[in-house]
Amino acid sequence: MTFTPWKRGATALEHTWQRPSWHCRACGRAWPCAPARASLTDDGADRVSLAMYMWGNLDRAMTDLPRRPPAELFHRFVGWTHTDQPVQA
Ligand SMILES: [Zn+2]
Repeated sequence: MTFTPWKRGATALEHTWQRPSWHCRACGRAWPCAPARASLTDDGADRVSLAMYMWGNLDRAMTDLPRRPPAELFHRFVGWTHTDQPVQA
């Protein structure tokens, strides 16, 4: 039997953002990528807390990516957190 106490955390850490590009460290796509969104909503995460967390990331991203349209960044970071649809990885 293999002991992997941080397996789940390690998976979440793989798909994390890197600044200032806000691309995923693991897959290189715009963060939050699909695996990151799935991880963030795993176990029925509280959507309000998730939205607040993502709002903080949006605030930092708007500083790092000042030329990106604010509406696009809002949808990318916060808009998806207010859906009732399950997130596909
Ligand atoms: Zn990723």
